[in-house]
Amino acid sequence: MSQLVWFRRDLRLHDHAALYHALAHPGPVHTVFVFDTGLLQGLPVDDARVSFIWHSLQQLDTALRQQGGALLCCTGDPVQEIPRLATQLGVSSVHAAEDYEPAARQRDEAVARALQADGRSLHLHKDQVVFAGREVLTQAGRPYTVFTPYYRAWRARLHAEPVSPWPTLPLTGRLLPHPAPTLPSLAKLGFVPPPAERQLPAGEAAAQAVWQRFQPQLPPYQQQRDFPALEGVSRLSVHLRFGTVSIRQLVHVAAHQDDEGAACWLKELAWREFYQQLLYHFPRVVGEAFKPEYRTLAFPGSAEHFAAWCEGRTGYPLVDAAMRQLNQTGYMHNRLRMLVASFLVKDLLIDWREGEQYFAKQLLDFDLAANNGGWQWAASTGCDAQPWFRIFNPVTQSERFDPQGHFIRRYLPELTGLDAASIHAPWQASPLLLQAAGVRLGQDYPLPIVDHARQREAALALFGREPG
Ligand SMILES: Cc1cc2nc3c(=O)[nH]c(=O)nc-3n(C[C@H](O)[C@H](O)[C@H](O)COP(=O)(O)OP(=O)(O)OC[C@H]3O[C@@H](n4cnc5c(N)ncnc54)[C@H](O)[C@@H]3O)c2cc1C
Repeated sequence: MSQLVWFRRDLRLHDHAALYHALAHPGPVHTVFVFDTGLLQGLPVDDARVSFIWHSLQQLDTALRQQGGALLCCTGDPVQEIPRLATQLGVSSVHAAEDYEPAARQRDEAVARALQADGRSLHLHKDQVVFAGREVLTQAGRPYTVFTPYYRAWRARLHAEPVSPWPTLPLTGRLLPHPAPTLPSLAKLGFVPPPAERQLPAGEAAAQAVWQRFQPQLPPYQQQRDFPALEGVSRLSVHLRFGTVSIRQLVHVAAHQDDEGAACWLKELAWREFYQQLLYHFPRVVGEAFKPEYRTLAFPGSAEHFAAWCEGRTGYPLVDAAMRQLNQTGYMHNRLRMLVASFLVKDLLIDWREGEQYFAKQLLDFDLAANNGGWQWAASTGCDAQPWFRIFNPVTQSERFDPQGHFIRRYLPELTGLDAASIHAPWQASPLLLQAAGVRLGQDYPLPIVDHARQREAALALFGREPG
């Protein structure tokens, strides 16, 4: 009997859990990807993630064809499409990577039921994470809600059970060919290519190139990772999101490298798993504060301020440069994600869920677990979050993490003429200096839309406690 491998967020051929397990069965193997119309509906026609997926699939199809197979592509509801295809191809089992998002879990349960009713089975294989939510628990068998002990347990497990990539089994002679390509064009799917700045090289080869570039940067990662003007971070998030790279490959290398940078980076990969397990155990974090005391907060912020934040015109240069990076490229540096999230919630007093949704639309690496975790951390509403009384100062953050203003100038060309001392808070610069720099505040660049010191007090009051 043949097997069917259902690709979802694992768009590669190497170190691929579902493919490895399907090939371990005797008999031929089919491969499929379903364009889920429920997910595609409502996305902008130039959504860069759809284009990234499409290009990754095109590469997968080419690689499979070179080895005698082909990627089947369908469009529709996977709950109908997968069982229909399984019957049509006569496969005994469907193999896919386990997904921990609530909607994906519901979908997979429905697919499993439909397959079972027809005498077939769905096998879900751990692939997106090194350790799934149920594998790292407290001694009492409960999920961790604080990162440090979670990380200790995660590391201990990694030490006891080192991860290694799944072997790449030969495909030739095992795949079933499909003569005509079934990958619909982007246009047929109702999409157009995104603007050039939002187009990223896609697929497994591109992911490996990004990884090769970053590997020499691992030792100094800890020193460089907080400075957005430097190339100090991996930029692998989009590849981890769509599985064009395997998490096992990355963890395997980082865990065996004996330097502080690699250890620090490994910890970031563990944050990713920490938030995944939180979403798995507490799916209610979608749309609701993790901490009950913050569920009823009424945020007084205005729609005008939200629009200014989205468009990068708050008058705080590093916040605005960060938002323009997001809008132009679909990426934002982690230090800046923390800063703009704090600014939205604690300076503009706007509900964190609005920022979360805006990020979900804009980020190419959008990941429900990491995004929700990051927002709830910054808003102090999450588990093991930023303490409510610690509020980022957008000016001192700017002075500290973009001291020369290089990052600000990259995204705010209107401030290029300002020197390193005045670029962080142009409204404090003398009229003479502003004139020499060719900056007319209120015309070329906005005055601050709020006063940080005043808003800080308002945020402390909103969070229901006396200023600390
Ligand atoms: C408000 C907010 C929203 C965020 N939204 C997302 C999101 O939608 N998708 C996403 O992948 N990350 C998100 N992050 C986490 C982090 O900012 C990005 O993973 C990181 O900036 C991606 O860049 P990189 O690949 O160069 O990271 P690197 O510094 O090279 O880190 C390597 C990998 O570790 C993981 N990682 C690093 N930091 C975190 C973190 N704090 N939480 C979870 N995983 C982490 C990512 O998979 C990342 O690719 C968010 C953080 C905040 C504060």
